[in-house]
Amino acid sequence: MHTAKIIIVGGGIGGAATALALDRAGFDFTVYERSQQLREVGAGIALWANATHILKNLGLLEDAIQVGCLTTNYQFNSQRGKELVNIAVDGFELPVVGIHRAELHQLLGCNVPREKFILGETFERFERNRNRVCAYFTSGLSIEGDALIGADGLRSRVRALLLGDQPPTYRNFKTWRGLTDYIPSEYRPGYIQEFLGRGKGFGLMMLGKGKMYWYAAATAPEAQPDAAIGRKKELEMIYQDWFPSIPELIAATEEANILTTDLYDRPPTKPWSQQNITLLGDAAHPMLPTDKELVLRWRMRMSLPNACKH
Ligand SMILES: Cc1cc2nc3c(=O)[nH]c(=O)nc-3n(C[C@H](O)[C@H](O)[C@H](O)COP(=O)(O)OP(=O)(O)OC[C@H]3O[C@@H](n4cnc5c(N)ncnc54)[C@H](O)[C@@H]3O)c2cc1C
Repeated sequence: MHTAKIIIVGGGIGGAATALALDRAGFDFTVYERSQQLREVGAGIALWANATHILKNLGLLEDAIQVGCLTTNYQFNSQRGKELVNIAVDGFELPVVGIHRAELHQLLGCNVPREKFILGETFERFERNRNRVCAYFTSGLSIEGDALIGADGLRSRVRALLLGDQPPTYRNFKTWRGLTDYIPSEYRPGYIQEFLGRGKGFGLMMLGKGKMYWYAAATAPEAQPDAAIGRKKELEMIYQDWFPSIPELIAATEEANILTTDLYDRPPTKPWSQQNITLLGDAAHPMLPTDKELVLRWRMRMSLPNACKH
């Protein structure tokens, strides 16, 4: 019997999770990743019930909870710490987990045979030949398979070739993400806390292994360089009069552990598959961490006032 051979382009969280699911389902597949190493950025990620549902199906939920941290509440505050809304998130059938991205990636990847990941191969183009698809890489490698999955992220090459569309849209704000061992005395265990101000925000949550993850966002032009005083000093200035946990966390974080990222998204496109080629993760639909529609729907449902200075 012919076992379908599936080509996965991209070995991020999406590509690694797909590889594991295909492995468990008995498919023949290979992941082609352009980086020389399988890795994720040094930041945290909140796994909501839709994601923990997948981890449960993959048999990895307990492991993720072991290396991550269970979240009980999602709390929104004004910038000075007045509570605006506090949502219990521990009542779902499945938990919400805060976890280091590298731990999650490692958990997914280490359960897939190592030889299924081919590193240092950058996908260039595909050709369809009847029911088969051939993927070509910049190294000169070409691979034929029965199906191709583009899990190659925000600026997906597979997507550009499949849908012929434009680059993603910059949404006029950037984020900083930090990791530290410092836990502010006012932190409430199990909480994701967000603090909202005009054109700015700050959030924090526990990951596993005693790590605190924080993220800040502010309106900014695209590709804005770091301030001359450096990332940490700039953040200390921006957030100096916010809720005390915030300047404390920034002060406790090493400059090298602060990442910056410009934020982009795309409107949803349907369909994102054609015959035996499909897209997955950010290649299919990159969203802002603050997905505007979602926040608006929440605000309407909760009658949440606009954040103001308290
Ligand atoms: C600031 C921020 C915070 C976020 N917070 C959360 C959160 O708390 N919870 C949540 O669920 N989501 C969150 N997200 C979204 C989440 O991080 C992404 O949706 C997810 O990481 C996308 O994974 P991916 O595998 O699709 O893409 P990526 O992680 O981008 O992986 C793509 C992979 O493809 C490889 N690649 C690219 N091009 C090629 C090529 N031509 N050939 C071969 N390989 C290639 C890349 O090297 C990379 O390894 C956040 C996003 C941002 C920006």
